Amino acid sequence: MSEHLMNTYARQPVAFVRGEGAYLWDETGRRYLDAVAGVAVNALGHAHPKLVKAIADQAAAVIHTSNLYRVPRQEELADRLCALSGMDRVFFCNSGCEANEAAIKLARLYGHNKGIEVPTIIVMEKAFHGRTLATLTATGSRKIQAGFEPLLSGFARVPFNDLEAIRHVAEHNKSVVAVLIEVVQGEGGINILPPAYLAELRKLCDAHGWLLMLDEVQTGIGRTGTWFGFQHAGVVPDVMALAKGLGAGVPIGACLARGAAAEVFTPGTHGSTFGGNPLACAAALATLEAIESENLLENAKLRGEAIRAGLREALAGVHGVVDIRGVGMMIGVELDRPCGELVGVARDAGVLINVTSDRVIRLVPPLIYGAAEVETLVATVSDIVRNYLRQAA
Ligand SMILES: *Cc1c(COP(=O)(O)O)cnc(C)c1O
Repeated sequence: MSEHLMNTYARQPVAFVRGEGAYLWDETGRRYLDAVAGVAVNALGHAHPKLVKAIADQAAAVIHTSNLYRVPRQEELADRLCALSGMDRVFFCNSGCEANEAAIKLARLYGHNKGIEVPTIIVMEKAFHGRTLATLTATGSRKIQAGFEPLLSGFARVPFNDLEAIRHVAEHNKSVVAVLIEVVQGEGGINILPPAYLAELRKLCDAHGWLLMLDEVQTGIGRTGTWFGFQHAGVVPDVMALAKGLGAGVPIGACLARGAAAEVFTPGTHGSTFGGNPLACAAALATLEAIESENLLENAKLRGEAIRAGLREALAGVHGVVDIRGVGMMIGVELDRPCGELVGVARDAGVLINVTSDRVIRLVPPLIYGAAEVETLVATVSDIVRNYLRQAA
């Protein structure tokens, strides 16, 4: 391992040199089934022909021009995203934290425009919104914040899935301008927001003139079996952050807004050099096209259900399995003890998985899984979980 990389990651001792579909190959030629998808990024799996072609064609035409000029691909992508989501306008950036950073800036400006001098954004316990200073402040994890103080002011934290706590903040803090929340907490351990909560939160935001801002960086672009997680609840947010699956591996983020929120930014208030460049937008357009033409929303829904059903059956009655939950291709298997070492055990068995929140196995496979991949994943994960719980008990 090079001494010249900053020491920010505890990397696994493996490097992948090739991918195809739901599989990756390492330097020795060994094949692995991918249930991580580059952390919920590679929605189309690896080397998807349409994505590869779109990137190659765009690279040969023009890669980057900057936002000093019109970018036709960016306009096309904005139109497409708004048609799919019901939002009105899009700001493009390059990552999830930047999409949330844009949302936070938008909310603050929205507040200032209303005469609120110290705008407050309500955020959740166990939330994950990124690693920039504003987004790590919004993140509900001391581990991620520690050492980076002073954090930003202007955030109020409440427990996830607790409307009373939000009502309580509303009574005592008249400077609230927005609520920022994940529809399913990813890093926080696959914690699912009931659709009824989101509907009530929508009403609460309307009653107070707050922006409902959804961080759909992980849940968006088909991950939960619908284009966006909020579509399970039948509400529409005022602001939505996207990234991960949007470019299916090419870095791109987006902050979408609707109604009054869509009119907050004006020339000079926000920007990004790379944001929405032709290459990234071509990749995102190809991703959306492939999800649609290959019926991947339905596939994500059905394969996700099959994975959960398979795991529930295989792990029924196994002591130490606390919960098996998820929506679409966003699946958590919660154990009663820390299980980080299972990542290596699964890799040795030829399957790539992830563990988050210490004791939750997170499965976020590419949306293209077939029946064979579901079967291998269920068999391998249930095997290693059973063996692990037997040994550790
Ligand atoms: C991954 C993630 C982010 C951060 O995205 P980056 O591209 O790493 O900045 C933000 N919010 C959620 C919900 C995420 O899953």
